[in-house]
Amino acid sequence: MKKAKGHEMSASLDGLVDELRDAARELDAAVWRSGLQGRFTSTYRTRAEQERLYRAYISGRHAFPVAPPGSSAHEYGEAFDYLVSPAEYQQDVGETWVSWGGEWGGIPDMVHFELPGASSRAKQAGENLIQELARKYNALPWWATIFAPLGLTNRPAEPAPILGQGVSYICRTTGYFC
Ligand SMILES: [Zn+2]
Repeated sequence: MKKAKGHEMSASLDGLVDELRDAARELDAAVWRSGLQGRFTSTYRTRAEQERLYRAYISGRHAFPVAPPGSSAHEYGEAFDYLVSPAEYQQDVGETWVSWGGEWGGIPDMVHFELPGASSRAKQAGENLIQELARKYNALPWWATIFAPLGLTNRPAEPAPILGQGVSYICRTTGYFC
């Protein structure tokens, strides 16, 4: 889908799994209520979109880490990227998400928010996919045969400090992340 030129549109939440979509809306509402601005820059991604992003990433044309095709939580509707303005509040919003029981990309991937364990599940799914493709075509897919920049692929989400202990805000208000 092409974005209208000169007009910044938010990515749709439609492809996200239900519990993440609802929590994402809660986060967005909390951000705007607090006087900040935020927008969803990437949500659900098809395999083709992830391949395109990964190509851009390994050739140095992407600011944030990109997982290999099949290995991104975005491909399973379990992650979204969210950009906060002013940027100095990005970390606060990430820590809020963690206090709600979600996982955040931390300093290396500050725009990345996901369901608990989403990146670990996606990494496993990506490994399974490579094996499946290798069996089917008797050859490895291109992304399994190249070296990505050191230490950036399949990186588990950086643990961020938990602000609120006990029952999370999202759990209390929506019943998710309990
Ligand atoms: Zn992301």
